[in-house]
Amino acid sequence: MTPQASDLSTLGHRIRHFRTEHNLTLDELGERVDLAGSQLSLIENGKREPKLSTLQAIATALGVALTDLLSAEAPNPRAALEIELRRFQQSSLYTELGLPSVKPTKGMSDDALAALVGLHRELQRKATEAIATPEEARRANTELREMMRERDNYLPDIEDLAEDRLQAAGHVRGALTHRTVSIMAEQLGLSLIYVNDLPHSARSVTDLANGRIYLPPASIPGGHGLRSMALQAMAHRLLGHTRPTSYAAFLQQRLEINYFAACCLMPQKAAVDFLTQAKRERNLAVEDFRDAFGVTHEAAALRLTNLATRHLDMPFHFLRVGEDGSLAKGYENDNLPLPVDVTGAIEGQLVCRKWSARSAFERTNRTTELYQYTDTPAGTFWCATQTGTTSAGEFSISVGVPFNQAKWFRGRETTRRATSTCPDPSCCRRPPSTLAERWRDNAWPSARLHAHVLAPLPSGTFPGVDDSEVYTFLERHSTE
Ligand SMILES: [Zn+2]
Repeated sequence: MTPQASDLSTLGHRIRHFRTEHNLTLDELGERVDLAGSQLSLIENGKREPKLSTLQAIATALGVALTDLLSAEAPNPRAALEIELRRFQQSSLYTELGLPSVKPTKGMSDDALAALVGLHRELQRKATEAIATPEEARRANTELREMMRERDNYLPDIEDLAEDRLQAAGHVRGALTHRTVSIMAEQLGLSLIYVNDLPHSARSVTDLANGRIYLPPASIPGGHGLRSMALQAMAHRLLGHTRPTSYAAFLQQRLEINYFAACCLMPQKAAVDFLTQAKRERNLAVEDFRDAFGVTHEAAALRLTNLATRHLDMPFHFLRVGEDGSLAKGYENDNLPLPVDVTGAIEGQLVCRKWSARSAFERTNRTTELYQYTDTPAGTFWCATQTGTTSAGEFSISVGVPFNQAKWFRGRETTRRATSTCPDPSCCRRPPSTLAERWRDNAWPSARLHAHVLAPLPSGTFPGVDDSEVYTFLERHSTE
């Protein structure tokens, strides 16, 4: 429904409201403004747009100001319901049902009208809720990942936009400062305000009416987090985002604002210059890139996925894996065989135990990156893994390339090698037969439910439980 049609409907209701207040029939008012009653009726029903001179004449005849007629508000509660019903019945959600549209007549009681509108509101609410089901979320997430893979995870328009904004704010080189981020906000007519009482479910809140971005207190530690949040909030406006109407649109927007923030924190030109120099010296390392731009290890690794293929001429992969071995985030355009479920989703899937993304958790000294060559059914890959800890547990960040690209990276000389045949279950999923024989009938674990909606349950002998882990655990403790 066009806004114009909506306005006409409200206008018609307002004219009728003032006419009946004056106890005038359609014909009586029509006579005073030189219009047939039938014509006036069309206007009151929102079916005809009146000329301004006619509107002026109606206002004068009814003793009200022209602005009273043109107000966007429904003139009374009954009219508000009628306007809402009309709007609902013209929405695609309703027309797709193939049901007749009901016109509220004078004879329809207020209760009947309120009941109809109430049902429409509920229909709309349910439809909005349904777009966020786990299946929809997983499907949308997979489609977006596949689309980004085709683009080598590179979005040139956003790269250019970020470069423009940084230049306008006077940023020259090095890490992006809070001060520059504030200037960028000011240039958009926004101010950054740090508060202690943000809603728990929001990372930042933008007040569009007053041009303010509310962020958590500036004293919060955590690298580039605060600058990134402010940049993401600005990105919604710079990228012209409107309220997302589907989960796919929501994910797309979130990807774009993250991308914009990353482009600002590690601007394309400066980042590519830095990385090209390191490649020339055969000394590429995420940790150096991270330190040069003052960002987290994960942010630097993810930024490499944007730039590696287009600017460094190499396919690339990235993994964030939790201490339980499940993949939280993943990207590859180098054919690394990521674990997938039947729908093609990777989130929550267990990665091979032999990969450095998991074996890094077994190391005692974790201050440096772990380098490893891994043979897989899709070829040999070189990977660099760094572990870290959050309140939710340990995690690892890995980047890697096919064997023939390892020569550009620090750590290429590692002698650490592993062989992975996953998804073949005999690789690392099936418990060793001796353990399985001993424990199969004597183990009874109780599954922990995954809180993450995107995480599926690992499948084994016991639903939701990694039996290999359970048996190893039992074996270890049974000998104590
Ligand atoms: Zn494996």
